[in-house]
Amino acid sequence: LMQLFRPLDMLGWVYRTIRQGLIDMALMFRLIDTEVEVKDAPGAPALVVRRPTVVFDNVEFGYDRDRQILHGLSFEVPAGDHVAIVGPSGAGKSTIGRLLFRFYDPWAGRILIDGQDISQVTQASLRALIGIVPQDSVLFNDTIGYNIAYGRDGAAQDEVVAAARDASILPLIEKLPQGFDTEVGERGLKLSGGEKQRVAIARTLLKNPPILLLDEATSALDTRTEQDILSTLKRVSEHRTTLSIAHRLSTIADSDLIYVMNEGRLAEQGTHQQLLRLDGLYAEMWTRQAHEREELEEAAE
Ligand code: ATP
Repeated sequence: LMQLFRPLDMLGWVYRTIRQGLIDMALMFRLIDTEVEVKDAPGAPALVVRRPTVVFDNVEFGYDRDRQILHGLSFEVPAGDHVAIVGPSGAGKSTIGRLLFRFYDPWAGRILIDGQDISQVTQASLRALIGIVPQDSVLFNDTIGYNIAYGRDGAAQDEVVAAARDASILPLIEKLPQGFDTEVGERGLKLSGGEKQRVAIARTLLKNPPILLLDEATSALDTRTEQDILSTLKRVSEHRTTLSIAHRLSTIADSDLIYVMNEGRLAEQGTHQQLLRLDGLYAEMWTRQAHEREELEEAAE
């Protein structure tokens, strides 16, 4: 009978391995959010950055030829500044992040980092310079240590611990019986949205990129967790060029500069105070969201 079971056992192993591979792949694709469409130019050099400025110069883009999304979009993120992109749903905010990471190339216009056209350098060198803390952080079905160390090849254990500490996830890990070797993900320990995001922040810290892309980093969390994560992100984004793609204006009001997008175009720009005085689209969004916040607070009382 054992003879019969052994191949079945083997089959089970093959099944589990393939299934695991598929899950990893599905997670990976969610992580990068799209299939890769662009190729390196032949002989492309690496992007070399001294001052990490980001410039969109007259960018035209659409996902499909018959539907243009960005119309001659130009804006600048000065090195080390914190810039936010806001605007109504569908305005093209997340599209900006995807273009900056070069999942797609613009139809026309250029995207420059420190004066270099990102379509003319290697994708590996481009992506090494940009850290993303996405809306829904996904974890690999592996240990929590692996999920953090993934931020940089060959990271030493004490660097992983330091990144976990800086992302305020170390206290949680230290309470787990298996510590950094605890399995997380579908089969392992289920982490909350905020905890997953902290793992993503630790991963990004380890990568130590000069440019940060925060895509709606705090959308799925309760207010207290959101405040905690925001203060962690504030620490993490110090001295880094940071582009925040935001829904809720309360989280980005203290940005150095806010760009307001509407229908693929830049509608307004300025600091929070300047935009309120302008009394346009931003001011209208701010007033509406302030009302919503009040209603939420009243409902909570
Ligand atoms: P939200 O605040 O709702 O996330 P957004 O401003 O980030 O919106 P984008 O996600 O940039 O908007 O999308 C801009 C437009 O591009 C939308 O009309 C959307 O339907 C379209 N779009 C986004 N991703 C794709 C895609 N992969 N293929 C085709 N169209 C897409």
